Amino acid sequence: MKAWRFYGFNDMRLEDVPAPVRAPGQVLVEPLFVQPSVTEAQLARGIPTLALDRIKRRLETEAPVQLFGHEFCARVLESDAASRFHVGDRVAARAKLPCGKCPLCKSERSELCRKGPVIGFDLPGCFSEIASIPEIALVKVDDRISDSEAACLQSLSDSVAAVETAQLRIADSVVIFGQGSMGLECLQIARLSGAGQVITVDVRDEACEISRELGADHALNARACDVVEAIRDLTDGNGADVVFECAGGSPKQGLAGNQTLLQALETTRSGGKIIGVSWFGAPLLLNIDLLRERSLRYLFPDISTQAHLAHTVQLVASGRVRLKATITHVLSGIESVPRAFEITANKGKYKAINPAQVMMRPPEA
Ligand SMILES: [Zn+2]
Repeated sequence: MKAWRFYGFNDMRLEDVPAPVRAPGQVLVEPLFVQPSVTEAQLARGIPTLALDRIKRRLETEAPVQLFGHEFCARVLESDAASRFHVGDRVAARAKLPCGKCPLCKSERSELCRKGPVIGFDLPGCFSEIASIPEIALVKVDDRISDSEAACLQSLSDSVAAVETAQLRIADSVVIFGQGSMGLECLQIARLSGAGQVITVDVRDEACEISRELGADHALNARACDVVEAIRDLTDGNGADVVFECAGGSPKQGLAGNQTLLQALETTRSGGKIIGVSWFGAPLLLNIDLLRERSLRYLFPDISTQAHLAHTVQLVASGRVRLKATITHVLSGIESVPRAFEITANKGKYKAINPAQVMMRPPEA
């Protein structure tokens, strides 16, 4: 089969390799739609973010190695006889898996386990013609969801976990910095979870427009106004009950650095919550006394569980969460995977909202 293998940072090659042999507890699948996550697109270039050290070590000791590809929709080719999945089913996955053995996993708190493997980082993902994926990672995709939308379910399940972490109360005011895919997902899930006024922030007009379409009461363009002042005005000088920070990261990739986190701290009401969704890729200098003085809670999402992933299927199948408007770039054929990495690593430059998707095997002409 053909698979993309990494020889180093900025060095991925499409090669013929032996097809994977399915182990018990795994499901053999044919990837249909795959997208690199923003994190993967940065890691492929050696840009500091989550898990860079782990990927660097694998490249140094195991290259060539199949990496990345945890956001996908695939079709089942083969599974255990007693499996929940049958040949022909479409499936999507969550990425971070529980180990199943530690005290947290054994006491039904597997969302807190960090000892299990991550698909695409520790196990091969779906940038190949065939992949073997642990069954515990998978969910069946409803017929009402397209292949393209299903490839977004992994990120959506992380957004569900992020909003759950906020434990919104009915009518809470919500601010969301960043209207990329996760910001737009958090917007829609917060709406469904009882949020009152929802204010979103981005620096791209097109992202602000989609944000309004998907339910934001106010979509502020941070290039056109003083965001901190505007949010204070919209919340009667108080700040918001809950602020999601989904914009931070390397300015080289068009992200906001730590500026949006500082703005988030300034626009959260006393005792309010900041949910940290972004990865910054470098240590930050923060005046913790500001948080202490105003009793701010800076919280981070748990990893998404099977229950979160199953919920995403219901959200999208029923039309309560809309993903189509966020999918801006769809490429055709396994050869176009590097282009998808390029677009996803530079979403600002290419005016992409969701990561660029690859239809792995285009329909024959
Ligand atoms: Zn565990």
